Amino acid sequence: MRVELLTVGDELLLGDTVNGNAAWLGRRLADHGVEVTRSVVVGDDLDEIVEAVTEALDRADAVITTGGLGPTSDDLTRDALAKAAGVAVVRHPDLERRLRERAAAAGRELRPTALRMADVPEGAGLLANSAGSAPGLRVELPGGTVYALPGVPSEMRTIMEEVVLPELAGARGPAPTARRILRTAGLWESELAEALAPVEALDGVALAYLPAPAEVRIRVAAAPDRLDDVERRVRALLGPGAVYGVDDETLDRVVHRLLAERSATVAAAESLTGGLIGAELSRMPGASETFVGGMVTYSTALKEKALGVPADLLARHGAVHPDVAAAMASGVRERLGATYGVAVTGVAGPDPQDGRPVGTVYAGVAGPERPPLVIAPRLPVPGDGARAREAIRAMTVVHALELLRR
Ligand code: ATP
Ligand code: MG
Repeated sequence: MRVELLTVGDELLLGDTVNGNAAWLGRRLADHGVEVTRSVVVGDDLDEIVEAVTEALDRADAVITTGGLGPTSDDLTRDALAKAAGVAVVRHPDLERRLRERAAAAGRELRPTALRMADVPEGAGLLANSAGSAPGLRVELPGGTVYALPGVPSEMRTIMEEVVLPELAGARGPAPTARRILRTAGLWESELAEALAPVEALDGVALAYLPAPAEVRIRVAAAPDRLDDVERRVRALLGPGAVYGVDDETLDRVVHRLLAERSATVAAAESLTGGLIGAELSRMPGASETFVGGMVTYSTALKEKALGVPADLLARHGAVHPDVAAAMASGVRERLGATYGVAVTGVAGPDPQDGRPVGTVYAGVAGPERPPLVIAPRLPVPGDGARAREAIRAMTVVHALELLRR
């Protein structure tokens, strides 16, 4: 079963709207074992839509479109599907009645333009929409089926979940591929790929590396009954603890869980990240169980005043130094009364600081069992200026959480 996506709208071509519908559709269809073989974007243009739908059905069994089902003159999907099918657009009596009832209930007059929402290509099936006024359409063409959905993401998703996904999952062939995301932090894509070469060589197993700042998610695809075995092999090759989470288990969730299991708490002292670590540690509902709070000590003077970092240490080495990270972590732990203190200091750029190059970062953790542990993560410095600055800050957050986890 091959499915293609056709997302419609000038706003997508102009870049005003990010094509979230295509991303969501690709993900949900994959979850259901339905293969998306191509994804195309066209503007609000009748002939472009007709051509794209016709071409897509030369290749695929079904096409899912989003957008262009509204009442305004730039909403052309229903007309395009009628043209592709060689049928007329007709007014659907049930839909017209429903629109009139809704307007009456809201005490409003039904505009002639709004009545266009009751028009469908002759013979089209309706896909019930419990999230909005206009249903989706199912149109059978010689090459296959077109599912036409509204552009509004919430309505599109509702119709997919309630009608289209069950229908497609029922029609797809046997032996679908299952996928699992294995999450790693602090390791480089090339290191992972080298270590995992034996898994990549396995028949019927595909690995994809999905990088984010300081993180690489490994997407494993295999037959459902082999997935657990492939995961075991990946974990064995990467070494204990390298995979921090599976699927939706983000680093902040894992840290929260590990702390909660020990009834422990954490406080953060941040310099170059300016509060981003606190934002992560407070992200999930229930974070107050493990996250006490944080201090953003951006200036060197505040590191001494608020956290008690020794003045002579700062005078001797400047603010970017492993001993400063350790003192910040101990300071915030004591002052905020947490089980653990996590701290970062470093140079996000664009200019060097205290003679240290951009990308120099120290992250420290202080806890009850041992003296503070400090790491100096290797950060690849991408591009320059603002982009590098944002990337360094984002990577620092991940390294700090990863240090906390370990
Ligand atoms: P309606 O029937 O509700 O009028 P429609 O089918 O006419 O919807 P559009 O007018 O094309 O849909 O889009 C409605 C809204 O949905 C817009 O705000 C648009 O930005 C958003 N939208 C449309 N297509 C996409 C897409 N591919 N990804 C994310 N958002 C989208
Ligand atoms: Mg539109």
